Amino acid sequence: MKILTILGARPQFIKASALSREFKKYPEIIEIIIHTGQHFDKNMSEVFFTEMNIPIPKYNLNINGLSHGAMTGQMIQEIEKIILLEKPDFILVYGDTNSTLAGALAAAKLNIKIIHVEAGLRSFNMNMPEEINRILTDRLSYLLFCPTESAVNNLNIEGFNNFKCKVFISGDVMKDNALYFSKIAEKKSTILSRLNLNSKNYLLCTIHRAENTDKLENLKQITKALNKLSNDFEIILPLHPRTKNIIESNKLKINFHTIEPVGYLDMLQLIKYSNIVLTDSGGLQKEAYFFNTFCITMRDETEWTELIENGCNILTGANSEKIISSVQDCSKKTFPNSSGLYGNGNSAEYICNKILLEK
Ligand code: UDP
Repeated sequence: MKILTILGARPQFIKASALSREFKKYPEIIEIIIHTGQHFDKNMSEVFFTEMNIPIPKYNLNINGLSHGAMTGQMIQEIEKIILLEKPDFILVYGDTNSTLAGALAAAKLNIKIIHVEAGLRSFNMNMPEEINRILTDRLSYLLFCPTESAVNNLNIEGFNNFKCKVFISGDVMKDNALYFSKIAEKKSTILSRLNLNSKNYLLCTIHRAENTDKLENLKQITKALNKLSNDFEIILPLHPRTKNIIESNKLKINFHTIEPVGYLDMLQLIKYSNIVLTDSGGLQKEAYFFNTFCITMRDETEWTELIENGCNILTGANSEKIISSVQDCSKKTFPNSSGLYGNGNSAEYICNKILLEK
């Protein structure tokens, strides 16, 4: 069984690690990886392949720095050529980036069955490029692996039980990875001592969503909140290259120390030992939960609604007052007892078994 996996962006490298680990157990599965090049910096790409033992991509398309249409178009063109050459049984795509959609479109037009891991998520905000990518990819997919019950419900509401596809609730491969790699991170990561951090004495922050970087007012609100919070808390902000460019070109004032993006092992340690995570990332919302850490999500909506319902996550939008008051609230509360969301760390095994049944 030949599976062509399409990867392009940081969260996809991380997600892919869990399934690649599983695929290696089955000699009958051949996984071939295409790296589209969407993320290309060493600390946004290579570090994950090395640390997380992800197979080296056979194809590297080096497509980046283009508008959405040009990027997606070029990717489709190149992936199509590789599909024709490799003749895979399946295309495997993760999440919601342009690489996900390009892989799905190229495969669908050549009648290759698509596996979508992290299917069914919706923000119901069509201004998000990710929402467009998710909806279209789901519609083209044959095996849809949903991390949550609400994701399955979203697909049911959209009529997926009438389509020629199979929908599964698999749990989240990110949980597999967080559990698997946190033990390794405890042994190998030196980030806490390098940054001179003690357990639970800092806020960990990431910002990279288009709504917070492309809308300058949003970024100003967030940096204003973080500047104020830096009077009372140490702030650790591994800065995404896109956000860094925008902060620099607009000369936004930052009163605290920012760092370069870190590898996964360092990130797990930073999340685990932080007071609170403040983010607009999808992945970090769940990783905070895996380590019983409150998350403040600086967006107007989230795809991970069960975290809000369970009181583990607070939505503040890019509103400096709300961000600050939520940090104060979370500092006083104990983390809710709500284990069991996102499966029990064996999602990759479940997904792999379902794929094998398609032989
Ligand atoms: N991450 C990392 N280093 C960083 C920032 C994030 O390893 O400096 C990891 C994070 O732990 C999570 C993933 O990258 O597993 C999330 O990626 P990102 O926030 O870029 O994308 P999203 O999840 O929002 O799609």
